[in-house]
Amino acid sequence: MILPMNLPLRYRALNAQPSRPGAILYWMNREMRIHDNWALLEAYSRARESKQSFAVVFFLMPSFGTAKNLANDRMYEWMKQGLKHVEEDAQKLGIPFYVFEGEPTKLLPAFIETYDIGQVIVDFTPLRFMRSMKQSLADMLPISVLEVDAHNIIPWFIASDKQEWGAYTIRPKIHQLLPTYLHPYPVLLALEVKPLIVDYTKPSWLTSPSTLTRATDAMIDFLTHRLSRYEERNNPNLDATSRLSAYFHFGFLSTQTVALAVQEINIPAESFLEEMIVRKELADNYCAYNPDYDTFDGFPDWAKKTLHLHRHDVREYVYDKATLEQGKTHDEAWNAAQLQMVTTGYMHGYMRMYWAKKILEWTPSPEEALAIANELNDTYELDGRDPNGYTGTAWAIGGVHDRPWQERPIFGMIRYMNFQGLKRKFDLGQYIRTWTGVQIVK
Ligand SMILES: Cc1cc2nc3c(=O)[nH]c(=O)nc-3n(C[C@H](O)[C@H](O)[C@H](O)COP(=O)(O)OP(=O)(O)OC[C@H]3O[C@@H](n4cnc5c(N)ncnc54)[C@H](O)[C@@H]3O)c2cc1C
Repeated sequence: MILPMNLPLRYRALNAQPSRPGAILYWMNREMRIHDNWALLEAYSRARESKQSFAVVFFLMPSFGTAKNLANDRMYEWMKQGLKHVEEDAQKLGIPFYVFEGEPTKLLPAFIETYDIGQVIVDFTPLRFMRSMKQSLADMLPISVLEVDAHNIIPWFIASDKQEWGAYTIRPKIHQLLPTYLHPYPVLLALEVKPLIVDYTKPSWLTSPSTLTRATDAMIDFLTHRLSRYEERNNPNLDATSRLSAYFHFGFLSTQTVALAVQEINIPAESFLEEMIVRKELADNYCAYNPDYDTFDGFPDWAKKTLHLHRHDVREYVYDKATLEQGKTHDEAWNAAQLQMVTTGYMHGYMRMYWAKKILEWTPSPEEALAIANELNDTYELDGRDPNGYTGTAWAIGGVHDRPWQERPIFGMIRYMNFQGLKRKFDLGQYIRTWTGVQIVK
């Protein structure tokens, strides 16, 4: 398999080092999958063209390195179950896949040195911690490091060269480029290059079969049974959405795979594709171009101004993080959403908006609101620690990608949501009963 020559480029060089003779290494990071992975395909194709050996490495870090990223056991377990599928797929194709437990900053340079690696290909993430780690490694390594955007259908640096204002500004750019970038993946059938064999002991947890539903099965389940109901997605009592976000987050599934599968079936999917492509790629755009994506400073000027003007408004309810975390507010809808997230690792998308906006209403400052929302989101959502999450909280609390609305206390001109509004939209009592067992009394 060689990447067809007419495929558009999806990579950028992270340093100016030339590639040197030696094995080609794919450092898998955000995109935990073998199939339909542009970063893997790029590395593999280079190995084949230069007749070098090839391997894939993954570094399982004990933590994500920052106080804010409180990855929990459930998230780790999910990731490990997904990595077992990666291992299975790699084995079937004869691709050497090595999982090392530890920090890439220490392990990667040693690996490169020991095994005479000629070039490293890594996948892209816009998030600060991994992005700066990759850049510092690329700056110190004596070999070429390329970064491939295997997450977005339109590579982030091609879709736009600046932070976009909103869906309305990025949408036309994406739609114009889709015919060029949304094309089938080359299929890997068997390894046609020399595998790079290294001294390796597989972690014991990687040897048992996975208990996780395969990403492609989850996709087929959605396309077959729920896509036709997607227009009802704002009702949290219905299972009408894809529930694919955690698969995308860990890279177990690519949105391009799903978009191509959607093209094959005869079901209208405009709204779904808008969320999965435009909104999702807009989130990567926000985090890639705004270094303050998870703080108040990242908000647009109009939002900062209006939130400043209202920062001393009296709050009827003020809750600390612990009370919020336990879902013990006066608002049973909010508590239900919080409990849905804590117990299952997934909060319905419609409730996420309400949930974050209420944190703004009930905490002493927008800065604190954003910090708490991100921390809870990152701790409990399986799809947390993701550009979609930072963009989602920044949208809800800081007007990012939104416009000014009618002015009101605390929120200023930030879009407001309330309990009565939820009641009008869907059977709120049912949602509350499901997640808290409490009946609405108001
Ligand atoms: C406060 C807040 C926090 C959020 N936190 C996260 C998070 O941590 N991780 C996360 O992946 N998403 C987050 N979102 C976005 C969205 O709510 C979830 O992606 C969605 O609910 C996941 O469910 P689903 O896969 O069934 O979505 P579907 O409705 O089936 O959508 C399909 C896919 O499109 C993407 N998508 C959908 N809505 C959005 C959106 N508003 N912005 C960007 N991409 C979107 C997701 O990848 C999703 O899997 C957040 C939104 C808000 C308002």
